[in-house]
Amino acid sequence: MRSRGLVIFDAFNTLVTSRRGSKRTFLAGLAQAGLNTSRTMLRELQAASEGLDHSGRSGSRPAYCDWAAETLAALAQTGGDLPVSLAPHVVPALEQWHQAAMVALPGAADCLTELRRAGFTIAVCSNWGWDLASDIATAGLAASIDVFVTSAQAGYRKPHPRIYHDTLERAGFSAHDAVFIGDSLRTDVLGPQRIGIPSVLVAAPATGQTGREQVASLAEVPGLLLGRREAAPVVVVERQGRAAQHRLQRRRQIMADKGAAQHRMAFDHQLPRGAEYVDVERAD
Ligand SMILES: [Mg+2]
Repeated sequence: MRSRGLVIFDAFNTLVTSRRGSKRTFLAGLAQAGLNTSRTMLRELQAASEGLDHSGRSGSRPAYCDWAAETLAALAQTGGDLPVSLAPHVVPALEQWHQAAMVALPGAADCLTELRRAGFTIAVCSNWGWDLASDIATAGLAASIDVFVTSAQAGYRKPHPRIYHDTLERAGFSAHDAVFIGDSLRTDVLGPQRIGIPSVLVAAPATGQTGREQVASLAEVPGLLLGRREAAPVVVVERQGRAAQHRLQRRRQIMADKGAAQHRMAFDHQLPRGAEYVDVERAD
């Protein structure tokens, strides 16, 4: 049977999360290297690594592991004063050497099973270490996944466009026959949409500025993709420049006056029909 389409999932905090009590954590890795172990530091390092091209070190598993080990060794030499040039490499190194065991998030197995049964091809595209497939297998989800694409092997980290193209190519689909599902606005929504892949943000309703392409949990995904719920093609544009900010403020005022949700705004003059505006600074 011809596949109904391609559903691409992010991995961490979308399908899986760390097993509670695991001693292998990124913070433990930072501590071993003598670095500040605050969550703020980790978030900054995560941001620094986004979109990284490390294709020169992704030729083989040994080469990638060496690069990750070299990064951690270099970190340990810094005495806690992290050079800017090293910052983007830290999270990839932690992913390779300090990755906790994974467990499936609630609803993940059922969601994948239902989509598979309905005829969808399933891919996972993740910023992850070399062993994404076996890490997901530990969580019991591997049998429902057709294609694994990890940044470690692809050589590019989301939201670099190459990793999304790589996923489409390996699964054999074009962008308009795919949908990306994930918990990060930047890497799972904006990144895919920039190359034409529609996307769905999985996030709690409290952060719901993105309108109909957002679901609160994986349990809603099959219904959305199988047409049991209304879905709309959504294009997200980032706010740019003072003029755009002024228009945003004005539009927000108009929408608020009309009693509409303050953070769902359509800019008719700059978006295609049916598209919506997402206030990136608030939504992310
Ligand atoms: Mg995630």
